[in-house]
Amino acid sequence: MTELAPYAALARSSRGRRVAEPAPEGRSEFQRDRDRIVHSTAFRRLEYKTQVFVNHEGDLFRTRLTHSIEVAQIARSIARSLGLNEDLVESIALAHDLGHTPFGHSGQAALNECMHEYGGFEHNLQSLRVVDLLEQRYGAFDGLNLCFETREGILKHCSRANARKLGDVGERFLLKHQPSLEAQLTNFADEIAYNNHDVDDGLRSGLITLEDLAAVPVFAEHLDQVQQEFPRLHDRRLIHETVRRMINKFVTDLTCESRRRISECAPADVDAVRSAPPLISFSRDVKHLQQELQYFLRAKLYKHYRVQRMANKARRIVRELFSAFLQEPPLLPPEYQDRAKDDAPRAIADYVAGMTDRYAIKEYRRIFAVDLSPDD
Ligand code: MG
Repeated sequence: MTELAPYAALARSSRGRRVAEPAPEGRSEFQRDRDRIVHSTAFRRLEYKTQVFVNHEGDLFRTRLTHSIEVAQIARSIARSLGLNEDLVESIALAHDLGHTPFGHSGQAALNECMHEYGGFEHNLQSLRVVDLLEQRYGAFDGLNLCFETREGILKHCSRANARKLGDVGERFLLKHQPSLEAQLTNFADEIAYNNHDVDDGLRSGLITLEDLAAVPVFAEHLDQVQQEFPRLHDRRLIHETVRRMINKFVTDLTCESRRRISECAPADVDAVRSAPPLISFSRDVKHLQQELQYFLRAKLYKHYRVQRMANKARRIVRELFSAFLQEPPLLPPEYQDRAKDDAPRAIADYVAGMTDRYAIKEYRRIFAVDLSPDD
């Protein structure tokens, strides 16, 4: 690993783990976090969880797993160029979506509605809950017992009420402080990854077309460039060549603007970063280009009637599963029944949130099938 900048989060000066453990041998604390995340059950579930397109709609659409890997790739390359800690950004990137419900945003919205009277449901907070509590793999502690810096990076947003209950990782929301540059960076890498892959997946699905996208300045600019350079290129190669240039534009701009802000502020260490204004940022022009792309995706892809139909089904599945379990906790698998004795709504939310898309569909059939065929 190249030498880290003084403002990077250093593994040796980590604020530590909730349960103290001997230092790892042959790898850093943040590498150990990354390794624990990769071996977790929640990480494997990401393969069958989706954001816009449900798993069975096609084999080539992004899943939360491939999305998380793309986020890690983008975040690591920017981290290296800014002298930030690549191991930490990789851990945060691979863990950032662990708390996502099945069926992406519609599943999350439905579960949040179900939990309205019981403290709500927020996927960021759920990701933290997965790594702090729900993974059951180690003898000495619940969860993965990750470092403070990884947990801080996972918790991107949080209400003040929840922040008060969270202790150390909640503090910054009360103090209005920033997280480490690694956490700030991973958040931007997430946006770059999903905006660009939603363009690619949107085109692949046929729900949006190159003609539609020609109205989006950042796409049109790169499409023109590619068509001038390679006049005979078409279909997937044309799309890929355009999307990769867009990603490059966002990555390069984010790197340059952040480098400029960091050198202007010159934070002495990660604590100075925490009390400084946000230092990872796009330039104003590129921020605007990115917003135009997001408006387009919202209007043309996320609100497309076929996406909405799938989202509507997804919400129904989540809502109906939740209320069936709430009315009759004995329908829950035994390990969740035990937890439901203390707090039934939260135990049910944990169970439903942990489901993959296809598991949720299967469970829905098992609970609501009217043919009374034996449970499989
Ligand atoms: Mg994400």
